[in-house]
Amino acid sequence: MRHVTVGESFEEFRATARALASAGVLPAEVTFADPDSAPLLFPELLSQPPRPVTTADGLRVPRAFLALGEVVAAHRSPLRWSLLYQILFRLVHGESNLLQDPSDAAVLELGRMRQSVDRDVHKTHAFVRFRRVEEAGVEHFIAWHEPQHRSLHLAAPHFVRRFSSMRWSILTPDATARWDLKSLHFGPGVPRSEAPAADVLEELWRTYYSSVFNPARVNVRAMRAELPRRHWATLPEAALISSLVRQAPRRTSAMVKASIPSPSAALVPPELTVPALRHAALGCRLCPWAAAATQTVFGEGPARAEVMLVGEQPGDFEDLQGRPFVGPAGMLLDEVLAQVGLPRQRLYVTNAVKHFKFERTGKRRIHQKPSAGDIHTCKGWLEAEVRAVQPRIIVALGATAGQAFLGPTFRLIRSRGQFLETPWTSYWLATYHPSALLRIPDATARAEAKAHFREDLAKVAAALLEAA
Ligand code: URA
Repeated sequence: MRHVTVGESFEEFRATARALASAGVLPAEVTFADPDSAPLLFPELLSQPPRPVTTADGLRVPRAFLALGEVVAAHRSPLRWSLLYQILFRLVHGESNLLQDPSDAAVLELGRMRQSVDRDVHKTHAFVRFRRVEEAGVEHFIAWHEPQHRSLHLAAPHFVRRFSSMRWSILTPDATARWDLKSLHFGPGVPRSEAPAADVLEELWRTYYSSVFNPARVNVRAMRAELPRRHWATLPEAALISSLVRQAPRRTSAMVKASIPSPSAALVPPELTVPALRHAALGCRLCPWAAAATQTVFGEGPARAEVMLVGEQPGDFEDLQGRPFVGPAGMLLDEVLAQVGLPRQRLYVTNAVKHFKFERTGKRRIHQKPSAGDIHTCKGWLEAEVRAVQPRIIVALGATAGQAFLGPTFRLIRSRGQFLETPWTSYWLATYHPSALLRIPDATARAEAKAHFREDLAKVAAALLEAA
């Protein structure tokens, strides 16, 4: 048995794993450890000339594995390196399609670790709060944050994009990130005492949080689930929780539901690309509607579309053709998109629910609205699409899509046409569903609603231009 010490970086792991895999060292013959816990080190192994590998694949490692490895390397599990090595070894020794096998236990575990790190990165994006300090007359913004994993390097580029004109630092126990208006620097972690305690920004944050406060979020259990205790001390709005709870006693447990993982999340393959997701979703039978539907209708559009449109569920036409929004609602959507200068080919178009839910009446298949349970079951796919495409703007078409993102208390009538900042993207907007427009019997009311729909989509087109 060999014991190998790897630091915390994926680069270091790669170099070590490459040497081991070239030398033909079986995963069962090696254990990995972090520097602080490692009992033994075999540096001589790394300097040995590699034994030639006898497989046709050589050491050509799929790019998907490298992308996944970068993320999983941030996981705190001491088993991450062994798992990555096991998968790497199998990939280069005859199982080059391993990552596409969603039933493989190691691939599943890798997917779970990736999800956990992704979620941690989302939380960093949502919960970091900067406090203003002045150092020698220079304004600086400092935040203290305790991520669950060693994920700061994955989360920091988001803040460069958002706050490029501010000097800021994010301090964590494992590492620090510092933006000096030109480049991003990483350094060692710091003790909590180095984060500034309080200042005027707190008051600002409180004001802001009260004004954007969504009562559905004030569920104490939900707050705990979504906002782990370790973040409470640094979030000024946390001080508001009890009074907000008092003000909104009748609200639902939307966020608690939202924090229960969707069953489809377990089927999401580690390779986070739309083709891989579509392929995996083809076999999804988690909802009862899958049996009667013709096929899974997955999203489509450019791999990195800037705008993602999310509808409710496929209709009769979509079910037969296997593509979203190809029936009458799709025609209306295409017409209005063209009017506002957002050609459909530039957008990623999908649905909250991927199977057609219907009731048969004679020869006709009558659309049935998806339930909150259907939305939840399918949500793992939608979340994976968002992670794969990383759109800058998400547009929810109708209440079902809105609820898929913001929970069952979302009401289109309250939020239509407003950009909201959400954990999925900073620009999230809900508007009418085109089918709802088609169903309005009165011609004047229909024209009015269509004009609002056009205005909302025009806002999306303008936001895209603004930020370009
Ligand atoms: N309605 C939807 O919500 N989605 C489609 O794909 C078609 C109609």
